[in-house]
Amino acid sequence: MSSFYKPNRRPDYNYGGPKWTLSRSKIDLFMECARCFYIDNKLGTARPPGFPFNLNSAVDALLKKELDAHREQGSQHPLAKEFGLDAIPLKHEKMDEWRNALSQGVKYVHPATGLTVRGGVDDIWINPQGELIVIDYKATSKDARIESLDEDWHRGYKRQLEIYQWLLRMNGFKVSDMGYWFYANATKNRDSFDARLDFEMTLVPYKGSTDWVEEVLLKLKACLDSDVLPSPGENCDYCTYRETVGRALQKFASANTGPQPITSKPDALEEARVPTKASGKVATSYENPTTNTLF
Ligand code: SF4
Repeated sequence: MSSFYKPNRRPDYNYGGPKWTLSRSKIDLFMECARCFYIDNKLGTARPPGFPFNLNSAVDALLKKELDAHREQGSQHPLAKEFGLDAIPLKHEKMDEWRNALSQGVKYVHPATGLTVRGGVDDIWINPQGELIVIDYKATSKDARIESLDEDWHRGYKRQLEIYQWLLRMNGFKVSDMGYWFYANATKNRDSFDARLDFEMTLVPYKGSTDWVEEVLLKLKACLDSDVLPSPGENCDYCTYRETVGRALQKFASANTGPQPITSKPDALEEARVPTKASGKVATSYENPTTNTLF
């Protein structure tokens, strides 16, 4: 197990625990697969995280500094001028809290469900009409200029903007339906790297709709309060993999009662062999020592 992945979360952070909140990424997970959402939030085991995208994080950190300089001066960013968006970065005492996606974000306690919903924004701008505009940073490397997001898988990006718009509205702010992705697209159209990446910057507009949020929150709450495990999502390769591996390990274990597994790490074998309390039988790392059943 890598140091990134903690499969058994502390119960405080599960649904019903004092530290559990509903982040916007959890809402997205529910919409993708209610079963994975349930296993994560109610049973306490999340999917392994993806490996951190350090280059994207570097772009985000530098964009934040750049936008903060304009926030301080009350000036329009050149990209906003280029794309005809009459807005400047918002100055607000809660800006740092709203941008803290890990533990804070824009928060709202939804009255019908009692759920504390939260989402950490990248930035918020304000136009002369006093409307807040949600801005989300994105970094990638594609051949084509990025001017719209029309693929099916972009629906998650759109929901992300819409949840932020909804959260800000629920906090009493006037919010524009228009949100923007502040896109940094690294070009590969150069002869050599020369320790440098060049980016084509675009401001991609999107008209959001938050009509779906209430209904989804009600369904999500019903899912969390149910004792029935939701069905798996369709065509998910991870579930097929997990079930196939489970069956393969059961078959393997029932056919092999002899020598212990071979491992490339000398100490790992001893760590993997755990005596069970009940029988003193030695379990391998893929065997549950308390029930003697295979994972
Ligand atoms: S179908 Fe996929 S997303 Fe759903 S529970 Fe299985 S692994 Fe998770």
